[in-house]
Amino acid sequence: MEFSSKLLENAVNEMSQLPGIGKRTALRLVLHLLKQPEQQSQKLASALLQMRESINFCSNCHNISDTQLCKICANPRRDEKLVCVVEDIRDVMAIENTSQYRGHYHVLGGKISPMDGVGPGDLTIVSLVEKIKIGNISELIFALSSTMEGDTTNFYIYKQIEPYNITTTTIARGISVGDELEYADEVTLGRSILHRIPFESSLKSL
Ligand SMILES: [Zn+2]
Repeated sequence: MEFSSKLLENAVNEMSQLPGIGKRTALRLVLHLLKQPEQQSQKLASALLQMRESINFCSNCHNISDTQLCKICANPRRDEKLVCVVEDIRDVMAIENTSQYRGHYHVLGGKISPMDGVGPGDLTIVSLVEKIKIGNISELIFALSSTMEGDTTNFYIYKQIEPYNITTTTIARGISVGDELEYADEVTLGRSILHRIPFESSLKSL
């Protein structure tokens, strides 16, 4: 792509670093911003900067939050003994949208994936095991997507917490294998949480 302006080229290059944004789309977005009042670009830039500089993670569940404890963990009406293990904030949002779940979450921040260089130490597994060790959790619900990475992660955590004798379940799979949680429709996802099954029986069906 040949640019008549270095400034334009820089903006397009930065924009195209985002996932799913190719050079053409980046150019379209940048030209769109140029047509808008300058204030629009300022608002966008400062929202991104502020988010990047001030973002926090909940000290209990590791979800993205503006406060030390997120709204879910701070809500006394939620059952803290029931914890749903998810990959990231998108899963929390998807499950919250079903209005079927009243427990807490534990956000791992990814899945074990040796191909991508993600090991157990890169995720928040240690703090999850710690919470279980001190007896704060009675049931752990695995709600990672049923990909090979999701299954590996579930199994790794399951082995870590086996000595502590808590109930482990997994969401029932109305969702076909390989589907990401965030794309499941709310009714199916809500149902699959209510009809969760013992984790051990999901292992036998592998
Ligand atoms: Zn939290």
